[in-house]
Amino acid sequence: MESIREIYKIGNGPSSSHTMGPKRAVENFLHLYGTPEHVTVTLYGSLAMTGKGHLTDYIVSRTLGDIPHEVVFDRETHTDHPNTMRIVATVDDKTVEETYVSIGGGSIVRKGTVPDVAKQVYPHNTLDEIKAFCDAEGLDLSGYVYYFEGENIRDYLRLVAATMESAVHRGLRTQGKLPGALKIDRKASRMYRAAETPRAKMYAYAYAVSEENASGQTIVCAPTCGSSGVLPAVVRYSQEQFDLSDETVEDGLAVAGLIGNLVKTNASISGAEAGCQAEVGTACAMAAAYFAYVRGMSNRHIEQAAEIALEHHLGLTCDPIYGYVQIPCIERNAVAAMRAVDAYDLAELLMPDDEKITFDMVCHTMLETGKDLTSLYRETAKGGLAKLYRNDEE
Ligand code: SF4
Repeated sequence: MESIREIYKIGNGPSSSHTMGPKRAVENFLHLYGTPEHVTVTLYGSLAMTGKGHLTDYIVSRTLGDIPHEVVFDRETHTDHPNTMRIVATVDDKTVEETYVSIGGGSIVRKGTVPDVAKQVYPHNTLDEIKAFCDAEGLDLSGYVYYFEGENIRDYLRLVAATMESAVHRGLRTQGKLPGALKIDRKASRMYRAAETPRAKMYAYAYAVSEENASGQTIVCAPTCGSSGVLPAVVRYSQEQFDLSDETVEDGLAVAGLIGNLVKTNASISGAEAGCQAEVGTACAMAAAYFAYVRGMSNRHIEQAAEIALEHHLGLTCDPIYGYVQIPCIERNAVAAMRAVDAYDLAELLMPDDEKITFDMVCHTMLETGKDLTSLYRETAKGGLAKLYRNDEE
């Protein structure tokens, strides 16, 4: 598996697969070919269906800058992966082209290239393997991360924690409307002022980050932009409830990152590929693992919390209205934060359990379930709640 840095990308919303990924693809293309005379970027599948709402064309144009270009939304051609983009350019009177797949969480794959083995940091690919290694070496799950990433990863986790907290802070203080035709009022600030319980405040934190994301502000993918409100909300809640050191929070983020990494490796963190179970479901599992870790639980207990959180998101569809990362996404982040803490509570009650269902099994099932979802429910804004509204502004 790759470094957990690949899970916690820091960047601008609203969508890791539809803005961060395409931005990286264009940057890679320009790195390969310099400054072309003209560029055509064609978006397929989910990138074409929800690219307008997710600002894909905007970010592609901004990245290309002064280079003459056009962005084409091809909603007809079928591609192997739902988030595919083709870049064709004229360079020194020759035509060059590359095809990229945005695989979720801002990561991209250039077709025809093999994964860079040098980027593989961890020798294990399942939680069962990781737990066995930890048992043999006497490590907890955060120790496992430092064992293979080195202590330097702590500096990055500190930056992740600070960026998450900044997004909460800004989101709680910003009012007005979210961008786009839905004209939704930002709610985090009002919710926070009205909140009378720590749990109610946690919902406001999730809204704060999700509203920052929907506004194109800086957030941490955890594991994606659309699900970026869940983990920061649980982190802030845990800090307010318990006397946690910065190091404990960083260690908890290491464990959460490991859980996200396992889902990315063995299933998917892309709504276009596997529905919202892959995004908010994974974020909930990461937050549940974080919470269980900072409460001092065992590796097996952490696994159970993450497994419960992911299992009970199985089948969750992706159906963003107008293709914006707003409805149902923002509310869904708050609900997932709540479920993460509940998953920890339930895991604590259930332990010791009979391990009939493991985290690895749920990962596998999530991918299978995602494949069974029709494209209506995989970030195309064609089914579910998205069917209730039609955007006349497009
Ligand atoms: S419904 Fe879920 S997967 Fe789809 S855009 Fe919203 S947060 Fe992302």
